[in-house]
Amino acid sequence: MNFKGGYNILPQGRPASAVNRVPEPKQLYLPLHSRRFLFSDICVEDGQTVSDGDVLARDPDNYAVPLLAPRGGKVKLKSAEGYITLTDILPPAGKVHVPEKDLPHIVQEMGSAGMKRYKLLSLGAWQFFYDAYTGQLPDPLGTPQAVIVSTLSLEPFVARGDAQLKNRLLQFTRGLEHLQSLLEYQPIYLALPDAKSELATLVREHIRGYAWVRLVEIPIKYPYDNFNILARKLGIKKGDGPIWSVRTEGILATDRVLTVSKPCLVRIVSIGGSGVKIPVHLKVMTGYPVREIIDRYASSSGVRIVDGGMLTGEAVAKDSLGLDTECRGLTILPEYKEREFLGFTRPGWGRESYSGCFLSSLRKGFSERLTTAVRGEIRPCVSCNFCEEVCPAGIMPHLLHKYLYRDLIEEVEQARIDLCIECGLCSFVCPSKIELRAEFIRAKELIEKEKEEIRREQAKRQLQENSR
Ligand code: SF4
Ligand code: SF4
Repeated sequence: MNFKGGYNILPQGRPASAVNRVPEPKQLYLPLHSRRFLFSDICVEDGQTVSDGDVLARDPDNYAVPLLAPRGGKVKLKSAEGYITLTDILPPAGKVHVPEKDLPHIVQEMGSAGMKRYKLLSLGAWQFFYDAYTGQLPDPLGTPQAVIVSTLSLEPFVARGDAQLKNRLLQFTRGLEHLQSLLEYQPIYLALPDAKSELATLVREHIRGYAWVRLVEIPIKYPYDNFNILARKLGIKKGDGPIWSVRTEGILATDRVLTVSKPCLVRIVSIGGSGVKIPVHLKVMTGYPVREIIDRYASSSGVRIVDGGMLTGEAVAKDSLGLDTECRGLTILPEYKEREFLGFTRPGWGRESYSGCFLSSLRKGFSERLTTAVRGEIRPCVSCNFCEEVCPAGIMPHLLHKYLYRDLIEEVEQARIDLCIECGLCSFVCPSKIELRAEFIRAKELIEKEKEEIRREQAKRQLQENSR
């Protein structure tokens, strides 16, 4: 498969593949929102005692995806706004409960595949699934046109496939079999690194004989593990139905739910970045106190905590209490807020940039000590073209930026902003540190909102005409 753009980022602070356990928490703070979900239907009462695996809340706009209690304990609804707090934490009991008597009509009609899909949703595995083009949660009872499974996480520093797969290859291949049993004839594409890595060789050996899995070799270069890019490269068309997309952790969760009928209550989260004392992977539950993790792993207090990877993560709010249900990693980066006069002209060893204008570019193949890199300096576009060089979507970020600066929305659409996969590479390489990705996300939302309004207006007019 041919890809264009992309960038190999070698930053310091990459977590080792070993997975550590965290001490049992005294309290858990379960956020009622995450990137895709808003758990607004609360299913428990203040003071109620719950067991692990019980449903605490649901997201009514996302197929009632549940927020599960990772441990038993006492529910506090008012002690922290935006969270369900669990106190008096109990040791894990491994309770399993999938109510079969009130199954929705459609689940019953779908037979065993319907029951399996319902279990994935009820026991917390379905939230690992995405639609390749929209990034949203697909309908668990819908029919996908294809499935993409990626074993790679190329964005620094989110939890990596090899850390997830350590000693769990059997569960992974079994998970793939379960996935196939949910489908009729739709293909499963399995994305593997094209290098002869140990992981790739092992996975290839384990799935030998699975004729229904089509291997896709992808370069180890960010962001070619992105489902949207993979779907485009595979020629799977947008608009011909959803494309289920899932990473290693989702396949392991599928296996857990469908083999042993146990809920998915813990996930592997990476703690990486050059502001970390010892970069690690942690096996941790939703709601685990963020403060405890920071105190244990951050090397100083002058750091920025990012929820997610270095390029697409979002800064964690200062008052954030617990890990949310979709967290794949925390990135901790030193942050220098002081403005450096003409800082970009200083050649220093310790500075790295895509432009190669610092002395550090003479040292090849070393790990870069990345910071938030702003240093109080945001400058205008200097037309260096770096953003266009790295953009995997083949669009011109600098041009979009200039159009947006002048509010030329029609031109922005003609320049194909819709192709942007929000990978953040343009912002990363930009020597002027322009927040291109954030600009494009805002612009896409605005365009979508305007289109929605036009659609609604047209539907209203049509209705009026019909009733005449
Ligand atoms: S965020 Fe969008 S415009 Fe920027 S590099 Fe990625 S795909 Fe291209
Ligand atoms: S990388 Fe930044 S400065 Fe360079 S062309 Fe793109 S927007 Fe302009």
